[in-house]
Amino acid sequence: KSEHIKKPDWLKIKLNTNENYTGLKKLMREKNLHTVCEEARCPNIHECWGERRTATFMILGAVCTRACRFCAVKTGLPNELDTAEPERVADSVELMNLKHVVVTAVARDDLKDGGSAIFAETIRAIRRKNPFTTIEVLPSDMGGDRDNLQRLMDAKPDILNHNIETVRRLTPRIRARATYDRSLELLARAKEMYPVIPTKSSLMVGLGETVEEIIETMDDLRAHDVDIMTIGQYLQPTKKHAKVVKYYSPDEFGELRKIAMEKGFSHCEAGPLVRSSYHADEQVNAAAKE
Ligand code: SF4
Ligand code: SF4
Repeated sequence: KSEHIKKPDWLKIKLNTNENYTGLKKLMREKNLHTVCEEARCPNIHECWGERRTATFMILGAVCTRACRFCAVKTGLPNELDTAEPERVADSVELMNLKHVVVTAVARDDLKDGGSAIFAETIRAIRRKNPFTTIEVLPSDMGGDRDNLQRLMDAKPDILNHNIETVRRLTPRIRARATYDRSLELLARAKEMYPVIPTKSSLMVGLGETVEEIIETMDDLRAHDVDIMTIGQYLQPTKKHAKVVKYYSPDEFGELRKIAMEKGFSHCEAGPLVRSSYHADEQVNAAAKE
């Protein structure tokens, strides 16, 4: 009964075939590193890797212990821990000459520390080699454990990003294991541990939520002191994933952004192709000006 709805024109982007980042892709293979930019086939890769000098690394392996209904990352038994990974990420940040780097990770529910030790070491290694690069981290809930979050925060990232992903009602259907409240709690705790570090969260829309529910999510994020919000269109990665229920128009995104700014976020990026890490370099500046 739920028919496939047609992709609107503003999402049909022509990928630039004149790829000037082939060298960077080769570097990723040589270093055995994974980026969300490549793996999620992110449409913004030219702009990010080229003009903006920003990229999103995915550490702790390419296999996740969870299987969220919106996510294209492979699920299964995780890779062995690679303790040399932090240095390789740091080297690549240097070789890519990045201004801003986002480090995310698969959920490692098999590890007691949720991967937080390697995560923290990655921040430190990047900073040692790239003192001028701003570092944003995008961890999973790391089992909801306070010590894991503390370990990560003690490495002092420039932005702590943790995605709420969807509205409260749809969370059990869309996210695996994660809960809406646990994510809010992580964001509030991070702010409590280091009030000067901006916190950020992203919402995907188009999964069947109502506008009221989106506004409620904004209120919940603000009530947990979240500074930055991004809102983007959910796109179905494969037929097996959750279906798109609605494509929001660029105007509707503009409207959502306006509401978010009225709610008091210091920065909000909203648009059909907005991803958690899109224009993240500007957000650091916006947060720093606070
Ligand atoms: Fe990579 Fe994020 Fe830019 Fe996409 S928006 S290319 S995932 S940094
Ligand atoms: Fe994807 Fe993260 Fe969910 Fe794992 S926990 S399936 S990486 S969204």
